[in-house]
Amino acid sequence: MTNKLDPWSSSDITDYSKLFEEFGISPFDAILPEVPCPSTYMRRKVIFGHRDYEQIAYAMRTGAPFSVMDGFMPSGKVHLGHKMVMDQIIWHQEKGASAFVGIADREAFSVRGFSWQKCREIGVEEYILSLIALGFKPDGLIYFQSGCSSVKDLAFELGVKVNFSELSAIYGFSGETNLSHMVSVATQAADILQPQLEKFGGTKPVVIPVGPDQDPHLRLTRGLAGKMNMFRVEEREDAKTGSKYLSIRGKGAPKEVLQELKNRIPGKVKLYEEHLDILEPPEFPFLERLGLEVRQPEKKKYYLSRIVDVGKFIDEIRPHTFIYYEKHLVNKQIRKPLRMILDEIVSEVAAEFGGYAFIPPASTYHRFMSGLQGGKMSSSVPDSYIALTDDPKEGAKKVKKAKTGGCVTLEEQKKLGGNPAECSVFELMFFHLLEDDEELLEIKQECLSGTRMCGSCKQLAAEKMYDFLKDHQEKRELARERLDDYNIVYKE
Ligand code: SF4
Repeated sequence: MTNKLDPWSSSDITDYSKLFEEFGISPFDAILPEVPCPSTYMRRKVIFGHRDYEQIAYAMRTGAPFSVMDGFMPSGKVHLGHKMVMDQIIWHQEKGASAFVGIADREAFSVRGFSWQKCREIGVEEYILSLIALGFKPDGLIYFQSGCSSVKDLAFELGVKVNFSELSAIYGFSGETNLSHMVSVATQAADILQPQLEKFGGTKPVVIPVGPDQDPHLRLTRGLAGKMNMFRVEEREDAKTGSKYLSIRGKGAPKEVLQELKNRIPGKVKLYEEHLDILEPPEFPFLERLGLEVRQPEKKKYYLSRIVDVGKFIDEIRPHTFIYYEKHLVNKQIRKPLRMILDEIVSEVAAEFGGYAFIPPASTYHRFMSGLQGGKMSSSVPDSYIALTDDPKEGAKKVKKAKTGGCVTLEEQKKLGGNPAECSVFELMFFHLLEDDEELLEIKQECLSGTRMCGSCKQLAAEKMYDFLKDHQEKRELARERLDDYNIVYKE
């Protein structure tokens, strides 16, 4: 069975591993050791997949600029599912990302038929207040699509590079699909690429944390990024010798632009009519080649004096990352920093000559929470989810009514144990309510061994939910008073 990835219907994706094969999403496990102080969602494998997150991890380790971007369609109540996305935006912002949050009112207008006024009310009252209450910092940008001229202009330009057949292949659009819906799709691609516009500092890696149902937007935008760019950096292989080299191709770029590019790239570079080939890698400073120093420049002296020991040590914990010689280590992943440097040069030149140099957006994919009664969460069934604006007592009550993985009788449960993998209460603690990994593990083990009964979990989770909602709603009221401190672009 093919997994359906549809951003406009609620998803029921049960076998996440299929996404790896079908859509080229990589498992997050492999990149986890590269991430400095991974978030709770990462540690607990709630975030299970990614595309190109290496460049984000690299930026976090080295202090290079990067952005996080996400959008919310103002469609209804803000709930725990939205909180997961907001938490991830805020986490990346804390790690140094410039943060962009788009309120997708063009999408709500075209898909749900909401008025602009209703979009604004829901956007502020539900999403923006909770985003700020959860810790979004004022240096990020929050905007309504309909009020953001750079997004609208870029969406129009992107529209030139996408046609109906492509949209129908990705989204299943048909002759019945209205034109504004298609425009809203181009607008979302513009949302994702906007952080790389010159006015926001130009080319940089951008991560979009999403559920797998949103992947079509990512696939479309990654394709568009390449189509918009003035240059394309490619790895090629010499047909005769088999040796690899990098080539920069300019689509119709004037000769003087290619010449300018050549002037800025050291190393052996050969210029042709429409492209240039880097035949020998540029001689970037020694430190660029020394993976350890790139990651921890403040410890350079220390590492140089103990290079072999450190090399052996690193090899033990991260096998095959480095080749170590007597006096230096060479990071085998050298191509990545080199490629990043080339991307920077290419984007500088493209910007000077009025072109784009977008890096295809990176993304992370998180698991969906199930509904409180089991099955899917549904906005039309209030008991299936907890809204961040639910009365705290009501929220606690919903937890107490939630489906558990316990047995029918206490005797049975003591004998057979419970099933935390099928338990909504455990899921609430796992995703949102318990920070402490040890405590969570203990609950799981006690449940499995039959020494814990569902009543005590429900009591604990209900109390935690009550406290969280009460605190969050107080913070929302403070956020309301501080809205003017934030950079929010509304529809005029
Ligand atoms: S004991 Fe706790 S974790 Fe186990 S099934 Fe019951 S509520 Fe869920």
